[in-house]
Amino acid sequence: MAAAKGRTSVTKEGKEHEEAGSASGAGTILWLIATGRACSRSALTEASGLSRSTVTERLAALFDAGLIEEAPEALPSGGRPARMIRLNTDFGVVLSADIGESHARLAITDLEPRILAEAVGTIDIRHGPVPVLGWIVEQFRLLLKRLGRRHEDVLGIGIGLPAPVDHEGGRVVGPSVMTGWDDFDIRAWLQRQFDAPVSVENDVNLMTLAEFRRFWPEVGQFLFIKAGTGIGSGIITDGRLYRGAQGAAGDIGHIQFTGEPAPLCRCGKLGCVEARAAGWAIARDLSNRGVEATTARDVIDHLRANQPEAVRLVREAGRVLGEVTADVVSVLNPSVIVIGGTLAQAGEDLLSGVRELVYQRSLPLATRNLTIAAGQSDIRTGLLLGAALLVIETQMRPETIERTIIRHQRSAAAGARRRRAG
Ligand SMILES: [Zn+2]
Repeated sequence: MAAAKGRTSVTKEGKEHEEAGSASGAGTILWLIATGRACSRSALTEASGLSRSTVTERLAALFDAGLIEEAPEALPSGGRPARMIRLNTDFGVVLSADIGESHARLAITDLEPRILAEAVGTIDIRHGPVPVLGWIVEQFRLLLKRLGRRHEDVLGIGIGLPAPVDHEGGRVVGPSVMTGWDDFDIRAWLQRQFDAPVSVENDVNLMTLAEFRRFWPEVGQFLFIKAGTGIGSGIITDGRLYRGAQGAAGDIGHIQFTGEPAPLCRCGKLGCVEARAAGWAIARDLSNRGVEATTARDVIDHLRANQPEAVRLVREAGRVLGEVTADVVSVLNPSVIVIGGTLAQAGEDLLSGVRELVYQRSLPLATRNLTIAAGQSDIRTGLLLGAALLVIETQMRPETIERTIIRHQRSAAAGARRRRAG
């Protein structure tokens, strides 16, 4: 039995190799194009170190497979204008989900990524993984159908969750609002539904990735702070997400301050940053003063109506956020800090407090060239685009790209077979 099993896997691997034949080695070329490292024949020859004829051959295979295309505009060059080669952002789609505590937002994107279709629904995350993920799968299927795309077109699935995530293991770790999700293999479960690779990530990390890649791509050391109903942060070092040993890096909302007042946090401890500066804490303080509020959204509405208590509390929250940010600056020495999330819509009412404390408390060397700015991502779609970016980057990595090409060729072949049969 074991021997038979062994033979099966050898045959399968052999077949994969055969199918990769036309594209084998084309992975490096596709990776150079997809990541924008090279976009002309001469640049590809130089960057890959391959001969001109080999590059031409591999490009032909990628054009045939529909993975790349020529841009209509020509590149400036010394002699004849060179044609720009780019990824065909339509060759696959990404399924992207933003799962919150009480809502889920889903999207299908192309490989730019641009959102092609969206759905939103009410869920209760405490019901556990199977009902929630089941609903998501159903919605993804409806969206695919609406776009006329097939399961085989799915390059991958990206899921954002409001909890610390073991990215490698594809599951939630540690105690959180997500009771019943602990150690449930989200990746394996979803992979079975679509036969596509799945990336699971903490929501703040996805917002960080979206903000960084789209608006600050040249910055190496980047810190994103999400100030919304809760508070968290995401860290980019040398252009990559830093997750920490347990996926808990950047969880600044529950750093405790000693001293008075030390209000009770929703995590059960006293004096956390969240309990003093998060949307829910400001809403609590407003309610205590007779101004009705429960979420960060309510706080912003009061602020825009110039409610004096709301203005005062948001400014105070900015200074609390500044205190903890100053500590993070001392450890990480980022060159850009972006404050995003619903509370960041308060603009300078929040940001000036952050700046004041960071410049006051951090070493001059660390703040000399430091930029502190408000987030530019759309609150509604930022996280969805971050999830799509994570999937695209993972599937276009040098170590995974050959497999991506093979999967695409298989799906194209399956599509052709179906068309012949139909
Ligand atoms: Zn706490």
